[in-house]
Amino acid sequence: MAKIIDGKKISAEIKEELKQEVAKFKEQGKEAALAVIQVGNDPASSVYVRNKKRACEYIGIGSLSYELPEETSEEELLKLIADLNAKQEVSGILVQLPLPSHMDEDKVIRAIDPAKDVDGFHPQNVGALVIGQKGFVSCTPAGIIELLKRSGVEIAGKHCVVIGRSNIVGKPMALLMLRENATVTVTHSKTQNLKEICKQADILIVAIGKKEFITADYIKEGAAVIDVGIHRDENNKLSGDVKFDEAEPLASAITPVPGGVGPMTIAMLMNNCVETMRRDA
Ligand code: NAD
Repeated sequence: MAKIIDGKKISAEIKEELKQEVAKFKEQGKEAALAVIQVGNDPASSVYVRNKKRACEYIGIGSLSYELPEETSEEELLKLIADLNAKQEVSGILVQLPLPSHMDEDKVIRAIDPAKDVDGFHPQNVGALVIGQKGFVSCTPAGIIELLKRSGVEIAGKHCVVIGRSNIVGKPMALLMLRENATVTVTHSKTQNLKEICKQADILIVAIGKKEFITADYIKEGAAVIDVGIHRDENNKLSGDVKFDEAEPLASAITPVPGGVGPMTIAMLMNNCVETMRRDA
């Protein structure tokens, strides 16, 4: 029987800690505010944006939201980002992805001041992670490190297999596990013998984006299994990239979906926002 890693509880603990930290900074006259830009009205993005606003309110930092129509030009968006970069009272800037197809996402991300890039997507922040320097780290992988640490899963010296090499999850995840002294294997859609490689993992982190792809035969007995995937069926029921019922009896610890990795992303976004206050301490 695996220990169920409770992401909801851990994320609530982190937000509570941040709330207290923010209150102390405020006593010193420090403020922070997150500006969130959404282009178009994708329903899933609207939910995320609303949750981010709520989290800002909860921990006690400001939030500004910019809801731009779908037909906004790239130039207009870049102009707004430049204005927010220049505003001292705005400490964090987040552009909700995906953007409409007429916009170049890379160009938009690069326009954000790296010192305000709380999503950790700017090439300067990604580069800092690669060479072990300070910078904002992508929220979902940073949240997974917190989940592991706060659940007592040992990382140093363990073999971690990451499935997926996306810029927002797989790659930064592998780099963070390396920073924590794990031995890291990164696998992807062209990997051969995926099952055999996964079976060697002490920590298996799954970010494939394929519903219940990982079955019992990918998992070594006693492994910690972290499921990043989120899939919503026609009845609004959520599931992950891992077949939970098969993995749970084998694993020593496992994240459920929902209630595992999901809630951590927003907690770590808030942590990055508070980092802008710590930086000026
Ligand atoms: P992505 O589609 O960008 O990347 C998927 C990766 O999986 C690719 O690198 C690909 O090489 C690899 N892959 C695909 N098929 C494979 C196969 N058969 N064998 C091995 N590797 C394979 O996805 P992403 O943005 O990294 O997201 C992955 C999942 O995590 C999605 O379900 C997404 O919804 C979810 N997600 C969750 C959170 C969260 O907060 N919990 C955040 C981001 C993404």
